[in-house]
Amino acid sequence: MPVYYLMLGAPGAGKGTQAKRLSDKIKLAHISSGDIFRDHLKRDTELGKLARGFMSRGELVPDDITIAMIRERLLQSDCADGAVLDGFPRTPAQAKHLETLIAELNGRVAKAIYIRVAKETLIKRLSGRWMCRLHGHVYHDIHNPPKTPGVCDIDGSELYQRDDDKAETVAHRINVYLEQTAPLIDYYRDRNYLIEINGEQSIDAVSSDLLAKLKQG
Ligand code: ADP
Ligand code: ADP
Repeated sequence: MPVYYLMLGAPGAGKGTQAKRLSDKIKLAHISSGDIFRDHLKRDTELGKLARGFMSRGELVPDDITIAMIRERLLQSDCADGAVLDGFPRTPAQAKHLETLIAELNGRVAKAIYIRVAKETLIKRLSGRWMCRLHGHVYHDIHNPPKTPGVCDIDGSELYQRDDDKAETVAHRINVYLEQTAPLIDYYRDRNYLIEINGEQSIDAVSSDLLAKLKQG
């Protein structure tokens, strides 16, 4: 039966960082909606053209487009055992569609992992975030620096700062998160799926807390 872990939290909370570590550990695919969109932008596909304006303004890409993209991705063979979903769902409509899709696949949600971080921390994290061009590996200039500045440790590609990580766009993205995504915390808490992690700790401490809470069930 396929099993899905959902990462919840504001932009900059550490979802991507922890999703990568968790997916390596439990050997499930790491599916990041943001990474998929950025790949389409890079290749200038039809989907990329549709998403570009929303992403650069720090708004959500419309639900129908996003849901279709994730549906297609989760049907691929590397997701046969499930996935760690990072950045999806982000609206109540996306959560409902995900429920339907998981039922169709005879799967189940294992946990929704909410990484809690204060607003001031988010801004510091995003202003120091660097990402690699090739695969989206994530660094921070203070908290998680690469061995060689500007170069990805893992694949050697160039590191860049995302356009939507500049201060004005970040403020808007946090508001969008509070309005459209934060309600999902209660949605999953009501269904007994939620585990909550203090995201203000070091990256390693967040990971060990997360694994300990998953073990407790
Ligand atoms: P972060 O984790 O920093 O918030 P992401 O890489 O997850 O950023 O997402 C970047 C952008 O991609 C979002 O601001 C939004 O425009 C788009 N996006 C990603 N996931 C979704 C989603 N589930 N629904 C709508 N838009 C999304
Ligand atoms: P999200 O996917 O939620 O937007 P990321 O995983 O991309 O967040 O993390 C945002 C930035 O903060 C990155 O630069 C990352 O290296 C850094 N970071 C992630 N977790 C922590 C942490 N626990 N402490 C300090 N910095 C962190």
